[in-house]
Amino acid sequence: HIQSSHPTFQAAKVNAWSATDKAKLVGEVLKMVNDRRRNPYSKVIRTGSAGRGTVSDAYTSEEREAVIWTTNLYLGMNRDQTVINEARTALEQFGTGMGTSAAASGMTDLHLAFENEFAELTGKPSACLFPTGYTANVGVIAGLLGKNDVVVLDQLCHASIVDGARLCGATVRTFKHNDPADLAAVLESEVSPYRTVLVVFEGVYSMGEGAAPVAELVHTAKHYGALVLVDEAHSFGFYGERGAGICAAQGVTEQVDFIMTTLSKALGSLGGVIAASREHVDLLKSASRAYIFQASVSPADMAAALTALRRLSSDDTPRERLWDTTRYMRRRFSEAGYDLGTGDGPIVTPHFGDKDKLYGLVQGMFERGVQTSAVTYPIVESGRGRLRLICSAAHTREDVDKTLAALQDAEREYDQRQRVEQPSEE
Ligand code: PMP
Repeated sequence: HIQSSHPTFQAAKVNAWSATDKAKLVGEVLKMVNDRRRNPYSKVIRTGSAGRGTVSDAYTSEEREAVIWTTNLYLGMNRDQTVINEARTALEQFGTGMGTSAAASGMTDLHLAFENEFAELTGKPSACLFPTGYTANVGVIAGLLGKNDVVVLDQLCHASIVDGARLCGATVRTFKHNDPADLAAVLESEVSPYRTVLVVFEGVYSMGEGAAPVAELVHTAKHYGALVLVDEAHSFGFYGERGAGICAAQGVTEQVDFIMTTLSKALGSLGGVIAASREHVDLLKSASRAYIFQASVSPADMAAALTALRRLSSDDTPRERLWDTTRYMRRRFSEAGYDLGTGDGPIVTPHFGDKDKLYGLVQGMFERGVQTSAVTYPIVESGRGRLRLICSAAHTREDVDKTLAALQDAEREYDQRQRVEQPSEE
């Protein structure tokens, strides 16, 4: 049972959808299809990726050349020529799949080099690879904790963290989002010399915020003798010197016990990784079921991630491009009057309270050659829906200008249509 004290945002509901919630969601999607309205989740990328590509609608087959803002390929590494070349070489050298888990010899020199170099960059002694970021979180939490332990999560933690916490059987507690004082209150009531306490939170959340108060949260957790796991899915590669991440940027690498990231975002590949002490990595490699009973990352994906790791740690250019686009988009959209919340990161989320309008805007922008997505309740609070634009090094200022113009135009058209369909009383 996940306890959440937050009055509006029902994290517990998101994280443990009931059968009724699921039925409701399926019903909504079916209704959209039956009503011949566009399904906002039905877009398929024909060619290209972050930046530009050809996008089509799986239901209507409508197709557009579009600026694409829907992937987390922050540094554009998936299209980097050196990364592609090294992935190709690995395919020739090792073939396509590993066919077994890392524990049962599914490791190549590439896997080993990645673990060592990721550990070196993040400032930890060792690291452990998983086939995805999702299974890395499940694997580390369920590998470490059992039913006598306690896991304390930020209430907005990613589903993979929540699922790990539920799977391990430990007592699950949540603290208010990014709130060190609430974390202290929860720890005060849960600390016991007989149990392991693990505190988990993200360095940057994916709904358009800035960096979490990582140092304060870490100091609070350490004051109560808890272990700390920080998910850097949305910060590794573009925060901190050489892209080492938010723990490095906030000077708490040493105190953080587990630094997690995915290989699917800044690294442009597929996989997950945990950097930690040698003892903890040895423990994970012998006790984590997600590590032992799951095939390891494929050679081409591994070569891509390793090459991307080397590229991002030795060249600031992609990071600078990402931040330039981010700052430019935030400035242009704010000046145009859009409410972007308080964040400063590369995920830019103009707020719109009305779900129908949001879906209408996503479609209207698609028709104008811009691929975006909508985030609505229950992923965010009711009435606080957002458009989601994920900046990357592959985007340009011209892409931002085109996107803003498309949004303004789509909004004008939507509002006009509403006025015709629902004329006011006057
Ligand atoms: N943690 C966070 C915060 C994420 O956003 C994601 C992916 N969206 C994951 C973990 C899982 O990573 P992956 O996609 O590699 O499974």
